[in-house]
Amino acid sequence: MDYKKSDMGRAMTIAIMIGNGEENGEENGEMEGHEGHMGEHIKLAPAEEDYVEAMHEIVSEYGKLADNDGNGIWVGYVSARQNKDAKIGVKCSNCAFYCTMDGSCHIVAQKIEPNGVCRLAAIGDGLVKGKRK
Ligand code: SF4
Repeated sequence: MDYKKSDMGRAMTIAIMIGNGEENGEENGEMEGHEGHMGEHIKLAPAEEDYVEAMHEIVSEYGKLADNDGNGIWVGYVSARQNKDAKIGVKCSNCAFYCTMDGSCHIVAQKIEPNGVCRLAAIGDGLVKGKRK
C-alpha cells in the first residue's frame, strides 16, 4: 500500500477502518507505519498492531469510547496540563489512534489534545525517549 497517499485518500481509508473491522483486518496484513489513519511516523510492534486492530473493531461495534459509557472500558483521559509524561513522548500525538488531520482520536469520543494521553494509548516504536521522572 502506498503510505504517501493524499489526505483525502487517508480519510477514506480511515472511514473504512473505522467502519468495517473485517476490511480493516485485510488492510492490516501489510501495515507498516500504520498507514491510512495515523501519521506516517507511527510504527507499531506486531502485538500493538493487533491491539490497534482489535480496538478499531470494538469501536466499529460499540462506537467511540468514553468513561462510564456502559461499555466497561475506562478511557482515563489525562489533559495536556496533567500529563507529566508528554515530555518523554507519551502523548496523543504519538499514539496510533491520533488523527493527524483534525486532532481527534479514532477510539475516544471526547475532545483531546496533542499532549494529552489516555490509558488506551498505542504509542509508536521509538517515540518514547527517556524515562518517567
Ligand atoms: S492516547 Fe488515548 S485519547 Fe490520545 S490519541 Fe491515543 S487513544 Fe486517543
